[in-house]
Amino acid sequence: MSTRHLLPCTACGKSVPVSPSQAGGAVTCECGARLDVPRLGEMRNLPADESVPPQAAAWSFRNGVLSAGLLIAGALAAGAGWFAAVEPAPPAPPDAAARTESVQRQLDAMPPAQLFQLYTEIYKPLIDRGFQEFKSPEDVATLRRIDQCRLYRNVLVGAAGAVVVATLVLVGVAPK
Ligand SMILES: [Zn+2]
Repeated sequence: MSTRHLLPCTACGKSVPVSPSQAGGAVTCECGARLDVPRLGEMRNLPADESVPPQAAAWSFRNGVLSAGLLIAGALAAGAGWFAAVEPAPPAPPDAAARTESVQRQLDAMPPAQLFQLYTEIYKPLIDRGFQEFKSPEDVATLRRIDQCRLYRNVLVGAAGAVVVATLVLVGVAPK
């Protein structure tokens, strides 16, 4: 606690702010007069310097950092929210029953040679690799957009978190 007091100048009458650390020493007034600063015990009898609280500058710096940090973090979080909002719905899962039925109908209508070709060219790789291969270009594009939206969203959320941490660190190390 470093409350400053006002020491009246004996020459010009102006008040010179003095801090407890200057107790017992001397200060020079604006007018050039050298004034003896009273000891700590006597300094309490002087009027307190209310005009410039010594903590004001630091407090406003901390407040500024805090407001700016929260503002930036808020903007980044809003951006993340936007990407979450525009993320397209995942493509509808394929209708397995309808597909099986359609495949069955096509198979019934096919001559054996074509059937064998179909099996080697399409169904064998499909069985080997799994049905995931069977995506329409639209589904692939949608899935890519979803991935992008999630990537941007995660980056923004990460950045917002980093800004919050940086703000707290700055406020923590700021002079009190
Ligand atoms: Zn003076």
